[in-house]
Amino acid sequence: MVSQIKQQEEKMQPEKLAHFKKILLDALQQHTAHIRSDQAAALDYADNDVKDTVDLSVMDVNKELALRLGERESQMVADIDQALLRIKEGSYGICARCSQPIPEVRLEAVPTARYDAACQAIIEAANGDDEHSSL
Ligand SMILES: [Zn+2]
Repeated sequence: MVSQIKQQEEKMQPEKLAHFKKILLDALQQHTAHIRSDQAAALDYADNDVKDTVDLSVMDVNKELALRLGERESQMVADIDQALLRIKEGSYGICARCSQPIPEVRLEAVPTARYDAACQAIIEAANGDDEHSSL
């Protein structure tokens, strides 16, 4: 009995998984829409406003900005994809470093979290903060 209870605590329950899956799918949809509208806006801007009157540098800056935004969004989409894959594989909500369950509060805040806060801090300290610095 005791071990059964313990197992239930460690493994995320299907309802919880479904909850986070929904959050992730919603976020995925949002980010995908963002990427499309960013790119569409950039193209639109380039087509209409900048045509032959304004100097090309404005367009370049705008394009550059759209690209950079797109990169950030793409990174988020990749993170979400990986989280969804972990849900499928049954490893979602488990720290990839110490194999301890990631607290649900953390997952609510960062549904794509691969590590618990302690391990994330250790990894960031080791790698510098180039990964996930925006989170
Ligand atoms: Zn950990």
